[in-house]
Amino acid sequence: MEIREKCLLCCQRLAACFQKPRSETDGTAVPARPDIVVVIPGQTTSSPPPSAPIPAGNSVYLALYDYTARTKEDLSFMAGDKLEALDKSAGDWWHARALTGVSASKQGYIPANYVAPVESIDAELWYFADTKRLDAEKLLTAAGNRHGAFLIRNSESQSGELSLSVLDQGKVKHYKIRRLDNGHYYVSRNKTFETLKELVSHYSRYDDGLCARLQEPCKKMEAPQTNGLSYKDQWEIPRSSIRLLRRLGAGQFGEVYEGLWNNTTAVAVKTLKPGTMCQQDFLREAQIMKKIRHPKLIQLYAVCTVEEPIYIITELMHNGSLLEFLQKDKGSRLSLSHQIEMAAQVASGMAFLELQNYIHRDLAARNVLVGENNICKVADFGLARVFMVESENIYEAKEGTKFPVKWTAPEAINDNKFSIKSDVWSFGILLYEIITFGQMPYPAMTNYQVVQRIPMGYRMPAPPHCPKVMYDIMQDCWKENEQERPTFETLQWRLEGFFDMDVSSYDDASRY
Ligand code: AMP
Repeated sequence: MEIREKCLLCCQRLAACFQKPRSETDGTAVPARPDIVVVIPGQTTSSPPPSAPIPAGNSVYLALYDYTARTKEDLSFMAGDKLEALDKSAGDWWHARALTGVSASKQGYIPANYVAPVESIDAELWYFADTKRLDAEKLLTAAGNRHGAFLIRNSESQSGELSLSVLDQGKVKHYKIRRLDNGHYYVSRNKTFETLKELVSHYSRYDDGLCARLQEPCKKMEAPQTNGLSYKDQWEIPRSSIRLLRRLGAGQFGEVYEGLWNNTTAVAVKTLKPGTMCQQDFLREAQIMKKIRHPKLIQLYAVCTVEEPIYIITELMHNGSLLEFLQKDKGSRLSLSHQIEMAAQVASGMAFLELQNYIHRDLAARNVLVGENNICKVADFGLARVFMVESENIYEAKEGTKFPVKWTAPEAINDNKFSIKSDVWSFGILLYEIITFGQMPYPAMTNYQVVQRIPMGYRMPAPPHCPKVMYDIMQDCWKENEQERPTFETLQWRLEGFFDMDVSSYDDASRY
């Protein structure tokens, strides 16, 4: 048998192993307590849709976003609808019954991250749990929000604390929500409230020292990615379920298309050039990649490996790679604060990989993707381990190995010592790319010169118009001793800190 055929066979077996029967993958299949799921406002129908009787108890859920069924087994619902979860044992997708809305009385699967228990704080339209200060500003200043729009979020700086962000004449003001020993909440000590709901209700009626009376909750942006494409934890999916719509680009491994899964769901499809790697290695790595989920990391949904070319199905990012995005913009629309914010997002995704003890190995602007509103997500983590091919001189052979030389830390080039700290080095280069709007690093040097001069202490000078603090971060990432380089957690914190230093929004003691 040809090596390639053997490899393919291995892969098919491996893929079959991943498709465990549902009872196995679900763990202890204890039938979940029938809970209820609900969905939120925005329904403008004049006559209310028929509703199923709402079960008593505190297990009713509210849908936070609209969801359109992707398979015959799914339920469609709208934000504000109520749903009863009949079986939650699968984790990311629950079997539920719609109590209200277009699917009232029907049963089917729903994505668990689209709903929240109806009586919980998560079901409040104004609660944006893990939204960072910076994201709160972005959300509140986005189209659709008016003066007085607000949200409450968990404070970044003090865990367990909450912050109130309010849109005031186009600017966002932030207030700390503090708690007394008896658990009561307050913004100003002379007015305390037993619950957050009461606090919101009070400041919706009176501004009472706030910059504005609270009006509409901040509009939620896009619905989050579902965890996986559907309730079936499908890993190997039939090629026929994917329709390629248009070519988005070509990369080192093959071409990338915008595609449609099951005729319902937009996805990106990476098609791999035959023979780029051993599929068995790829499948093993991809199985790990699939489990790594974070808002700043591209989600790997599924693969088609039974025939060549292999397809890798991931979430779709409408603005393509960060490198192209920066080069196209050249500073026309993106300001320094956008650049820092994008860098902070990459650091956040990488901080998650750091926590998982996972190494990217090829962090660069070409491997970061951009969505709406400058959202950045790190892509292709781990792939460099399974294939490294030459592309436009970026990956250059050195003693039989191929590296993106200008992005790779010296210990990785010289001793093949890849670690999260070599990723930190690459992050410093990525910062250079961001600040220069996608210039090639070490512009006047060849790869060979870079390999020669870095161990002798040479480092790129600060690019023009680069704030000193940013160049300080780059230099920290390029410390020779990798242990002296910062962690991604610190990098994230330092980059996000740029915005906390903005004093324009602190103008009285209760704000920060
Ligand atoms: P790559 O093979 O990863 O280098 O990708 C080649 C090009 O395809 C990139 O430069 C992007 O413009 C585009 N691309 C790759 N992945 C995606 C995705 N998930 N969503 C949208 N565009 C993508």
